[in-house]
Amino acid sequence: MDNTQPQTRTGPHTEVKYLKGVGEQRARLLKNLGISTILDLMEFFPRDYLARKLNPSIKELRPEDYVAFTTMISWVDERRTHGGKKLLNVGVSDGKATLVCAWFNYPTAYATLFKPGSLLWVSGQLSEYNGQLQLMHPEFELVEDDADDDFWKKREFMPIYSLSGNLTQKFIRRTVYAAFALCAGQIEENLPTGLLEKYQFPARKVALQKMHFTINPAEIPALKQRFVYEEFFYSQLLWARHKHYHGESVQGIHFANKRDLTTQLYAQLPFKLTAPQKRVLREIFADMCSPRQMSRLLQGDVGSGKTIVTLFALLLAVENGYQAALMAPTELLADQHYANISKLLANLPVQVVLLKGGNYRGKTQVKEDISTGSADIIIGTHALLQSDIEFDRLGCVAVDEQHRFGVLQRATLARKDKHPDLLYLSATPIPRSLSLTVFGDLEVSVIDELPPNRKPVQTLVRSNQKIDLVYREVARELVSGSQVYIVCPLIEESDKVDLLDAQRMHEYVSTKVFPQYSCVLLHGRMPAREKDAIMLRFKAGEIRILVSTTVIEVGLDIPNASVMIVEHAERFGLAQLHQLRGRVGRGGQQAWCYLIEHFPVGKIARERLNTLVRTTDGFLIAEKDLELRGPGEFFGTEQSGLPQFRFANLVGDQAVLNQARGDALAIIGTDPDLTAPESALVKKVYFRQYTDKEKLILY
Ligand code: ADP
Ligand code: MG
Repeated sequence: MDNTQPQTRTGPHTEVKYLKGVGEQRARLLKNLGISTILDLMEFFPRDYLARKLNPSIKELRPEDYVAFTTMISWVDERRTHGGKKLLNVGVSDGKATLVCAWFNYPTAYATLFKPGSLLWVSGQLSEYNGQLQLMHPEFELVEDDADDDFWKKREFMPIYSLSGNLTQKFIRRTVYAAFALCAGQIEENLPTGLLEKYQFPARKVALQKMHFTINPAEIPALKQRFVYEEFFYSQLLWARHKHYHGESVQGIHFANKRDLTTQLYAQLPFKLTAPQKRVLREIFADMCSPRQMSRLLQGDVGSGKTIVTLFALLLAVENGYQAALMAPTELLADQHYANISKLLANLPVQVVLLKGGNYRGKTQVKEDISTGSADIIIGTHALLQSDIEFDRLGCVAVDEQHRFGVLQRATLARKDKHPDLLYLSATPIPRSLSLTVFGDLEVSVIDELPPNRKPVQTLVRSNQKIDLVYREVARELVSGSQVYIVCPLIEESDKVDLLDAQRMHEYVSTKVFPQYSCVLLHGRMPAREKDAIMLRFKAGEIRILVSTTVIEVGLDIPNASVMIVEHAERFGLAQLHQLRGRVGRGGQQAWCYLIEHFPVGKIARERLNTLVRTTDGFLIAEKDLELRGPGEFFGTEQSGLPQFRFANLVGDQAVLNQARGDALAIIGTDPDLTAPESALVKKVYFRQYTDKEKLILY
């Protein structure tokens, strides 16, 4: 009897650890780079290509030039500056002239890393110091001797990969080579011939190999387009199907504009609505008064007044005999909404209730009021999503700070009743390019102007060397009664990175700088109750200085706070800094934001800080942030439901996005379930990737 095991053939989907020379330990390091299978490795594109012949001669270089080239290390010198800082100088030479690479406060390992005689690849912007050309904190790579690797020895262009742990360029190059040697023949095409021809794309197999083994790096940008297109095409198919099946056709509630409660609220508003608030309200009302289900994103910068607009939408549902819910991401925000809205509706015949998580006194009653329908407006946290919460007749749902909730959570609330109208609020201005991809055909309303009583926050970048001057200016604000936030990147001291942590900062400020004021520490590892208690005391003015990590980021309204100090501002993302800055200047007085930078500040970090000084326009900032960081990091978490693109950049690649969307819509328009024979390939690739996401969106 023949009982041989079926042969498992090594292919693109085999785990990378089985490749020659990899093994368990290196496989773990590769995993840090997002590489699990052999195909992942093939799709792990070089971040640069080293031109081994095209190196410039040092003599021809000028200060300010950006350079990238390989040279020989001629000497290494470690010393201390007058100020006591560690300085490492590495002289590199092309045989005719020398330039100096310099690092301050470098990791100890650097001292033994550079050896005279080795080849060093460096890249950065040149400067001049005492008549000597130098590269400060250049990017670098020790170029290993590839003598034993025949294939690579003959290449003019060497790929440079991102590394992890103690992985080397040489290891990755060899492993990539081994991957293609073994599996190149099995790489599958994933675009139909029609599209390949339309865009003159090379076959996937060819394009992948060229990405690693190019003999002409000028062709790389065009090659990359193919991979960008693939990603967009399949993600746009999802939206095309969503549009096809849900699009215009979802029946919703046909509200009538009764001008009852809404008019009463309007008559007693403590301020006049801004023009964009009025426009957005008209858009929302028109949508709610149509027979289809509203699904609308309400965008507006921090402090632009989204809450009041939302309240009108909730009231429209209530005056039509329905209930309306507002969900917030934290208890503190839910409390704040509850307090504000109760106050605004004090004279109206509307019952407002608050629902939070956990067990507390009165909760049973609130749940009963929700299920019997006596509660009109229900404000709450995630607790609203729980299965034991039953609404009587839910007509409208608003989700505040919607990016803090996952797609699944948003979908759960939307399904709590028949087809309530949906309003998603976002203080993170989402660029149009992103919102199309994240939300497909969601309608968007934008409040693009702040209420008139606001003065733009004055933003200043200061070096930490000058922090005493900052404290002196802040002292004046404190004397005149304001409150101050100080934000630090870490909670506790860490020996790995030399960053100011919130704990040390709090100790220093409360004992040495402002001992006369109450100063309290707040961080994310505190229990929620403790955090809330501190925020309430800050809100009440009992606490004057709040030293914290970024936990204070989300939507709190404390009008008396007028100073924000961000330590290590160079470490934060642009959108995050903008959100932090939005915590101050909400009360009509002049507010200040000090961005404290600690040396060294990289080029991109510098650009971020300058952008903040230049503008307070959240949309401009968001576009810039996307451009600098890419969409993956834009919302911080996977939870946002944002598709993770490996190749595409939503800002830089918008033209490709538009083409891909057009193609996807065209295919779904004639063959929505991809049953035609010519759709077979697309169908296979699409469902392999998108089955799970479809479940969330289509059903
Ligand atoms: P956000 O859009 O960040 O959620 P809020 O809705 O919390 O902003 O509004 C911020 C502050 O501005 C609140 O104190 C609110 O009462 C006030 N506000 C809203 N609209 C106006 C307006 N048209 N004129 C003056 N103040 C307003
Ligand atoms: Mg808000």
